[in-house]
Amino acid sequence: MQKHDICPHYKSGYCTSPMLDTPTADVTSPNRCFNSFKGCRYFVDTGEEKQGLELYQSVEQEIKFYPLVNVMESPLESSCENYRPMRTGKGYVAFCTALGRILTVTNAEMCSKYWRSCPYRT
Ligand code: SF4
Ligand code: SF4
Repeated sequence: MQKHDICPHYKSGYCTSPMLDTPTADVTSPNRCFNSFKGCRYFVDTGEEKQGLELYQSVEQEIKFYPLVNVMESPLESSCENYRPMRTGKGYVAFCTALGRILTVTNAEMCSKYWRSCPYRT
């Protein structure tokens, strides 16, 4: 599945749309969230490019404090749909959209080799 086919509000089986008071799994479905999310009444178009820039900026902020734990010498790849490798001013890092945080280098190695059995995937 292409990454851009997944609704940006979909996180670990839950819908985190700003239209809802709290995230819920009651409204998610594979057909809606992975294919036709733009027609979903809970979908809010925030603009993917802006989201990418905001994500990059928050990642830059976070790794200022933990560069040794998070920064990889060379970029690791993973076939997990939640895995986002990123190049930052300090080096390469990996972000997990299911966890909503930067992965440690050890985590990223697990995502690269054993992503199929990761408990955070849905
Ligand atoms: S498609 Fe709709 S239900 Fe699914 S995550 Fe997006 S906004 Fe929520
Ligand atoms: S932690 Fe799991 S869900 Fe997140 S990127 Fe790695 S393999 Fe995917």
